[in-house]
Amino acid sequence: MRKFEKSVKLNNVCYDIRGPVMDEANRMIARGEEILKLNIGNPAPFGFRAPDSLIEIMSGNLTNTEGYSDSKGIVSAREAIKKYDEKKNIPNVTIDDIYTGNGVSELITLSMQGLLDYGDEILVPSPDYPLWTASVTLAGGTAVHYICDEESNWYPDVKDIERKITPRTKGIVVINPNNPTGALYPKDILEEIVKLARMHDLIIFADEIYDRLVMDGKKHTSIASLAPDLVCITYNGLSKSHLIAGYRVGWMSISGDKSQAKGYIEGIKLLSSMRLCSNVPAQSLIAPALEMMGETEKLVAPGGRVYQQRECIVNLINDIPGVSVVKPEAAFYCFPKLDVKKFNIHDDERFALDVLRKKKILFTHGGGFHWETPDHFRIVYLPEMEVLKKAGESLKEFLADYKQAD
Ligand code: PLP
Repeated sequence: MRKFEKSVKLNNVCYDIRGPVMDEANRMIARGEEILKLNIGNPAPFGFRAPDSLIEIMSGNLTNTEGYSDSKGIVSAREAIKKYDEKKNIPNVTIDDIYTGNGVSELITLSMQGLLDYGDEILVPSPDYPLWTASVTLAGGTAVHYICDEESNWYPDVKDIERKITPRTKGIVVINPNNPTGALYPKDILEEIVKLARMHDLIIFADEIYDRLVMDGKKHTSIASLAPDLVCITYNGLSKSHLIAGYRVGWMSISGDKSQAKGYIEGIKLLSSMRLCSNVPAQSLIAPALEMMGETEKLVAPGGRVYQQRECIVNLINDIPGVSVVKPEAAFYCFPKLDVKKFNIHDDERFALDVLRKKKILFTHGGGFHWETPDHFRIVYLPEMEVLKKAGESLKEFLADYKQAD
């Protein structure tokens, strides 16, 4: 090992925002080429605007949010989160159990840092939102990937989870609604996961940042609501539901039987106070935003942008010979499957590079989400329908005669 690097292996993490495909896209952009970025769930560049009222509230609060706040966050924000958690039936959360963060991202990293010793294992879905694997790895732990099954709407394969539990397993990550598949998990699957967590004494890490972006009249169930006797940490934020990813505002709530995790919670408190606090002007948006769901609901209702774009992308993808996709029920991602035999694909990163160079469309390959077989890629369907249609046509044209070189 070299002196100036950690001993953990940091390759193959966070490929939606870094890695060789991203590097090539950046070189092309530097040469003046225009790239259609379907690789990152950032609504603002695609014309999604935050509600004006939220911007006014934050600007109005700039002068009284100049100082550090309590390291967990301002009381009005945490009270609003507590109320929201109550609405989701998340049990036993006081404002002392709530921590605001500079996005959910910061809190994911912090909660892994506070828990893991070298060799500890955390069950993480495959495909995953890669920050989870990166955070487990950086904290010295081992991410053990459990399969989400495309044949069953991308729901977690509970038998696979069970097979992968060992005496070193400390917790399980459940991303629901899911990035990258867009799946929304039914209550019975969540109950089965809770049963396993109960049997093996696991903490549940519930990433629910897309819980307000659910389509088709479906209802999101918070897994913490099914686990009052376990320790559960639920993550949420405003980046996606309120289209303010750049303001960096998220939170986590520790629920259930916290008496089992006193030492861990002390560690979380310490880490939280070490970063002093999260962005205070952005915290001032939490209470009003959680009272202001109308715009979000419109986006995912029939006729709303996210809903219409989902319909559009699913039709476009399923119309391409050799490609298929499970219709997502939430968020703004889908995870299409490629017929690897037809296209001779043996390297999905190579596939993403080939599409980028030839068609100037940037996707993240399935491997970037810790999906082992080279047969998937993720599409972020945030662009307007006209742009999506062009991208769909372009991909169809590309695949019409694509055979990956041996
Ligand atoms: N969790 C999931 C599943 C995500 O998809 C994302 C962002 O794409 C995050 C967490 C991070 O969100 P934030 O902007 O709150 O850091």
